[in-house]
Amino acid sequence: MRAVDVIARKRDGGTLSRDEIQAFVRAVTDGAWPEYQISALLMAIVLRGMTAEETADLTEAMVHSGVKVDLSHLPGLKIDKHSTGGVGDKTSLILAPLAAACGVVVPMMSGRALGHTGGTLDKLESIPGFRTGLLLGEFQRMLAEVGCSMIGQTAEIAPADKTLYALRDVTATVESIPLITASIMSKKIAEGIDALVLDVKAGRGAFMKTPETARALAESLVAVGNRAGVRTEALLTTMDAPLGCDVGNALEVIESIETLKGRGPRDLEDLSVRLAARMVVLAGEADSARAETMVRAAIGSGAGLEIFRKIIAWQGGDPRVVDDYGLLPTASRRHAVAASSPGYVADIDAMGIARAAMRLGAGRDRVEDAIDPAVGVRLRVSVGDQVIAGQPLAELHYNDSGRLFEAAALAGGAFTISDLAVTAAPRIFAEVV
Ligand code: URA
Repeated sequence: MRAVDVIARKRDGGTLSRDEIQAFVRAVTDGAWPEYQISALLMAIVLRGMTAEETADLTEAMVHSGVKVDLSHLPGLKIDKHSTGGVGDKTSLILAPLAAACGVVVPMMSGRALGHTGGTLDKLESIPGFRTGLLLGEFQRMLAEVGCSMIGQTAEIAPADKTLYALRDVTATVESIPLITASIMSKKIAEGIDALVLDVKAGRGAFMKTPETARALAESLVAVGNRAGVRTEALLTTMDAPLGCDVGNALEVIESIETLKGRGPRDLEDLSVRLAARMVVLAGEADSARAETMVRAAIGSGAGLEIFRKIIAWQGGDPRVVDDYGLLPTASRRHAVAASSPGYVADIDAMGIARAAMRLGAGRDRVEDAIDPAVGVRLRVSVGDQVIAGQPLAELHYNDSGRLFEAAALAGGAFTISDLAVTAAPRIFAEVV
């Protein structure tokens, strides 16, 4: 089967056969197709789409690109959570230890920054020494000992996604319901979980810009998960403004730890608690009402924080960062973006803030790019806040002054100040079960 024929079929709007999809995924895994042909097919899929059948076949082929982990020796149901990607979205760092503190086994496999969105792995790796590339045996041992492990795609688990994810990041081929579905669900099915909670984001800072496309993505994810025997539920949440206040890897680790200490921003804490509570319910540990109380209690008692400390230590990181943020990478300079007029913060455009953070070096433009874990944007106001002229709206943390001018313009342009009082809309707007 010639790669160019498969690419041409999809380019012309055709349906790929199961054999063609399997051949593609095999070629991604063994390197038989060069990256330009892989990227060409990815672009054709973005532009032409895939049927539900093709999406399920792609997911299955990606699952079988590696091993399917067997966690049946661990007692209880294994539950994970995954987000479709947002700006300032650090809920995984908060809810995984919280759910584990409530008795859920959480085998979490996450991704790196993708497009303009941040990645859990990049955030965790800003903790000195933290290893996200555990061997399968280490992952299983850690789940037995700690109840939670946070790793990335490995050569053993969903290796095809590892290659495709990195290529999609730099070829503008992220925004596709079949590709996002196969990417997320292949990792999740392969990691040996029983159930999955998804946070499907809609808005300017998400890959799905409207509630309708986000719902279509949620339905695709839920259908593929349930068909593969993984009970899957999705919360649909808004991603017009960044989640929480911090955007940038080490800054987001600090905000996650603050949230585990009960001092996080309300929107971030509430969404993390709701998602963790769904995990507790799916694990059969409690009903909905009690699950939320249990999760909040794990914040109040510090039990979630203690699990996070253990996760860091187990994965080679320096657990003292939990008490001393000075041990995390810190940018050498700060720049304040100030309000030019008084009024109410009517809007903070997540995409503008994401682009500012990317410009400072928090994300990648090319596969081989290194990110700067210290840089980012710290919001000093939230939607609905009243401000006076000259008041700082955001603080940019940067190391390279050559990047500041453009980043400051992007961050400044993200704020809309209005004369009228504004109330922030709730984050969660629907569920797909
Ligand atoms: N998260 C993933 O793991 N993959 C995607 O394609 C998008 C978000």
